[in-house]
Amino acid sequence: MKKLEERILKDGIVRSGNVLKVDSFINHQMDMELFEEMAKEWKRLFAGKPINKILTIEASGIGIAAIVAKEFGVPVVFAKKSMSINLDYDNYCTQIQSFTHGKVYDVIVSRKFLGPEDHVLIIDDFLANGCALLGLLNLVNVAGAVVEGIGVAVEKGFQKGGDMIREKGIQLESLAIVESMDEENGTIIFREQ
Ligand code: 5GP
Repeated sequence: MKKLEERILKDGIVRSGNVLKVDSFINHQMDMELFEEMAKEWKRLFAGKPINKILTIEASGIGIAAIVAKEFGVPVVFAKKSMSINLDYDNYCTQIQSFTHGKVYDVIVSRKFLGPEDHVLIIDDFLANGCALLGLLNLVNVAGAVVEGIGVAVEKGFQKGGDMIREKGIQLESLAIVESMDEENGTIIFREQ
């Protein structure tokens, strides 16, 4: 999506450790107009799929997923991170290794909000090694729901997550794929889509 790529080039900052900082429009301050355009693009890309629920993970996925849910006219559920093992049988639980914080989280979704009747579109801000998405896929599986697709704002194509998800045969729509980025001079190169 040209508009997202242009915004990344204008305001994104390449940090050490393969981190792209986009906190002026996605991760801290959020640009709602941009989110609306992203949501419209996913609506087009997933047209015809019987999506009745959006699933994301707290915290940074929530803003984007909320706008996407409005566009699709369906509810949005976010998986909650909890630092302690949760033995509450009212929840589905999985573990996720965090790329940005280097910790392992227990992640939960209430059984009330995800079940076999659901056709889910998973939305997240970034795709790096794919740990967050694997965790969400696991929750959907355990719930007996169907994954209709995954929408990611920014995929870092030089990390392994994108290939891993595509190999599973899941429709993955990343609105911008960073092919390479250089910490020294700040250059960012996108994959042609
Ligand atoms: P993964 O689980 O795919 O390795 O990492 C995905 C999660 O890590 C995303 O939900 C996002 O919060 C965070 N993340 C990974 N890479 C980056 C990055 O380069 N920039 C930012 N802002 N977040 C990232």
